[in-house]
Amino acid sequence: MTKPKILLVYTGGTIGMIKDYETDALKAFNFEKLLDRIPELVQLNCSIDTYSFDEPIDSSNMNTAYYVTIAEVIEKNYNTFDGFVILTGSDTMSYTSSAVSFMLENLAKPVIFTGSQLPIGHLRTDAKENLITSIEIACAKKEGLPVIQEVCLYFEYKLYRANRTTKINAEQFEAFASLNYPPLAESGVHLHFNNDLLLKQESKQDLIVRKSLSNNIVVLKLFPGITEEVVKSILSINSLKGLVLETYGSGNAPTYPWFINLLEEAIKNGMQIVNVTQCVGGSIILGHYETSVDLKRIGVIDGKDITTESAVAKLMYLLGIKIPDKDFKEIFETPLRGELDF
Ligand code: ASP
Repeated sequence: MTKPKILLVYTGGTIGMIKDYETDALKAFNFEKLLDRIPELVQLNCSIDTYSFDEPIDSSNMNTAYYVTIAEVIEKNYNTFDGFVILTGSDTMSYTSSAVSFMLENLAKPVIFTGSQLPIGHLRTDAKENLITSIEIACAKKEGLPVIQEVCLYFEYKLYRANRTTKINAEQFEAFASLNYPPLAESGVHLHFNNDLLLKQESKQDLIVRKSLSNNIVVLKLFPGITEEVVKSILSINSLKGLVLETYGSGNAPTYPWFINLLEEAIKNGMQIVNVTQCVGGSIILGHYETSVDLKRIGVIDGKDITTESAVAKLMYLLGIKIPDKDFKEIFETPLRGELDF
């Protein structure tokens, strides 16, 4: 049997960083040096090719142009490789991996994002386990087909659906959570896949890579005391096409007339406004409280149990592929890559 072929893509992040002696700050460094630090890779039963950003980045500098670069690397190499492991910084990994999940239509191979909280050269690094297990997951096959056929995020012994994740901890190795969808796999003595939870690509259609993403969106997090001036000035940004509105609890917002009127006016003028909860877990239930009845009436999109990261990515994607206004709400509220519950 031929060995699975994995493409390891390095974009930057702590996993490959070293200390800059002048500033004492961590900065991205050379990918070859990173590989030298993990001699264990040759013991894996697969062949690994690598691709690195010319200038690796801290993921705080991630943007939609880099999303396209990552998606294009996968596109160009899709037929040659059995799976893809993408190394990025953890800070924006949930945003990036969510976006890539929408960009890759008809994906039938594993795309696993991972990184680490400590650089690979650090004695207590979490990088080795994250990387080695991600590669194993990307290699996994059952009856000749890849076990994973979607975009995932692996960190600290758990594999998650990428577009369900949020970075919840800046310090602990368990940096990510997926509170609205259980882990797809857990790594202990054995690698255990929760097969019933996995997406399967039934259509057998060719991969389509959607590269047109809209940047004309904003996230507005509500807080008690938010002023009319602030909301008004955000909604009057000329180029703005979409807004992710982070509301309280199950989708609740102030009932002040100025607030509702501003949103209603914006929606009438073509703005797509998505209601997501500020809570890390749970779902929007529009109309459950009096404080969300008006949002429902004026046509705010029900983000259900989607994460903010995924809502941002889905807005960028749907605005980029130019969905007609009349269909936008319904399509947003429909799961496209397992990112929300129906
Ligand atoms: N600042 C780093 C980054 O996101 C943190 C990490 O890699 O975990 O690039």
